[in-house]
Amino acid sequence: MRALSLDLRPLRKALEPKGMVTGQAQVTFRPAVPSGSSTRWQARSRHGAPNPVPESASASPPDEAPAARVSRLSPRGAARVRRWAGRALLVAPTVGIVAVDLAKRHPRLLSFTGTDLFFYLGSVLCGLVLWTSLVAVASRQSGFARWPTRVLLVLFALVLVGAQIYTFERYQAYVNHRAVLVGTSFLPSVGQQLWFDRWSVARAVLPCLALAVAIPLLAVKLAPMRQRARGWLCLDIALVAVLLGAFISPESGAEQGQPPDIMYIAAMGQLARARWDHNETVERVHPGPRTPEPMPKLVAVQARKRNVVMLITESVRAQSVCLDYATGCKYTPFSNKVVPNRIPLTQMRAVDSTTAISLAVMWSGLLPTSTRKELHSAPLLWEYTHAAGLDSAYYTSQNLLFGNSGTWLEGSPWTRHVSATMIEPDATYETGADDGKLVDFAIRDMGALKEPYVAVVHLSNTHFPYKIDPEDMPFTPQEEATGPGYENEILNRYQDAIYLQDKSVARLLEALKKRPEAERTVIMYVSDHGEQMREKGAVGHTGTLFDPEIRIPFWIAAPQGTLTEDEETKLRGLHDTPVTSLDVFPTVMDLLGLWDAPEIDRFKSRITGQSLLRGGSPTDRSIVITNCSELWACAFKNWGGIRGSKKLIAHQGERAWSCFDVAKDPDENKPLDPSECADLLPLTERVMGGHPF
Ligand SMILES: [Zn+2]
Repeated sequence: MRALSLDLRPLRKALEPKGMVTGQAQVTFRPAVPSGSSTRWQARSRHGAPNPVPESASASPPDEAPAARVSRLSPRGAARVRRWAGRALLVAPTVGIVAVDLAKRHPRLLSFTGTDLFFYLGSVLCGLVLWTSLVAVASRQSGFARWPTRVLLVLFALVLVGAQIYTFERYQAYVNHRAVLVGTSFLPSVGQQLWFDRWSVARAVLPCLALAVAIPLLAVKLAPMRQRARGWLCLDIALVAVLLGAFISPESGAEQGQPPDIMYIAAMGQLARARWDHNETVERVHPGPRTPEPMPKLVAVQARKRNVVMLITESVRAQSVCLDYATGCKYTPFSNKVVPNRIPLTQMRAVDSTTAISLAVMWSGLLPTSTRKELHSAPLLWEYTHAAGLDSAYYTSQNLLFGNSGTWLEGSPWTRHVSATMIEPDATYETGADDGKLVDFAIRDMGALKEPYVAVVHLSNTHFPYKIDPEDMPFTPQEEATGPGYENEILNRYQDAIYLQDKSVARLLEALKKRPEAERTVIMYVSDHGEQMREKGAVGHTGTLFDPEIRIPFWIAAPQGTLTEDEETKLRGLHDTPVTSLDVFPTVMDLLGLWDAPEIDRFKSRITGQSLLRGGSPTDRSIVITNCSELWACAFKNWGGIRGSKKLIAHQGERAWSCFDVAKDPDENKPLDPSECADLLPLTERVMGGHPF
């Protein structure tokens, strides 16, 4: 904030021609030519006459400060310096923005050619016209328009630059038109996230705020705009620049192919257009209620009599839990102890890293690339169990107002249900209600279910900003700030949240063990997707398909006799086999004895997964993975293909596909030659309609 109190006196003094006293014949600058495109300025006195040129500048004492030495310049020279300094201030915002943009993503920007390069440079020019016009008007010494313009300059600096820098530091991408459209479904959640991450936000926006205040202050001292008419002309020009930025489609260039300021203006333009068109994403009815196809009566035929408790958690990645039983497990010591004989699958991957898509996959078995119509008409787990006359429950600490997921689930025929706001009326959008309270509720309520049943217990406190127990944090130092410099702190906080949640998980597992039906209850533990902790530049999920975001924990704890010998052998055999979340739904259906019901054949034709109790899907099958579904649009484009351990992925910030073999290169640091993933490319580009960059 030091910049706010810049002491301009030495500079002013230095730049004032000798012999002139401010107030008598104040030095101001105005164009030599009153109109036209010329920006030639000359020093004039307040009365409009050219400034008197003093005989010569007097010699300065040898020990004078450098700034004062400028005063050795002739008045003409000093005027020239001031003139150039004034001009430099006009272009400073755009120069600064482009410099920041280059610093953040030079490999991508420097790779632009042809239309992409032209579009980027055109957008820079649009920004230059806008900022120059605004700074010029803000530099006026009098007149009404300067004050609203100065306020506008500050607002623009905060939103078009500061907020964009914050977004980039968090997601490695700027807010664009797609992010804005998706964001409208999450507005309260966006607000909460910004508040939780306020220190990172402040660090990104405060320098912009300081500069937005300082630049007009400096300009008004060095080269104020004197002509009223010129001020209005500049405002007109600024308006034209905003309109051009807003209504030229950002799709004309590369993905994220504009500087951050114009990208934001373009996003707002597209949002206005979407509102005008009543686009349902922005009308807040997205994704809308479902109309599932009617389900014939089903008969459950179980291989063994068994109940299923499906424990779904939020944003927990495989590498941050103890999958195999481990003595001295640090991350999830409580569940590690309660279910030592669990059967983990260490290579389970979600086919996306977006909550809504992941849950739809696990509850419907459909691909993330299914159409909107398919997802809206597909029966979910509860419709199948209802048709079979089985009891079911959905206990969730997630706030179902998040992304309108409650609307989508409305009318689901579960037997028992509770969600975040029913437990805690003020549950946040981000972390929901307390997982401990949800577990307590579920333990009490499950007594009402008659066997065989399926109960989904869905936890949410491990979503950003990661709920922790300040009294018990084994991982320190921790912070909820996500910005650069907090890589270790945010990871610690994330691990502390998983550690805290694990106490609730263990309490539920203990309680289930004590229930009369314990020996007939199979427990499945899985996360919706993972979480990136800056391994690939970002914090969070949904932005990429790198393994930290999609490799998820998965284990099954099956008491003796709940699985047939063959089922258990098949499941244990998958310990190191690459499998995907597409197999989760068929596995639950198989456990419930519904997978072979002939009545569901027509639904099964759209379900590509296979029960893990039967060996899971073949590992040589190619699948498209994506965070951009037709029903749930993505904020940041990213998709790819997966076959066994081979992954072909890309996101909007890249310029090419990357191919990895995650069996040999689990950190995805050694991209293979794209030919190694050649078979995945045509499938991915065909299904997704091209590449995401
Ligand atoms: Zn999630």
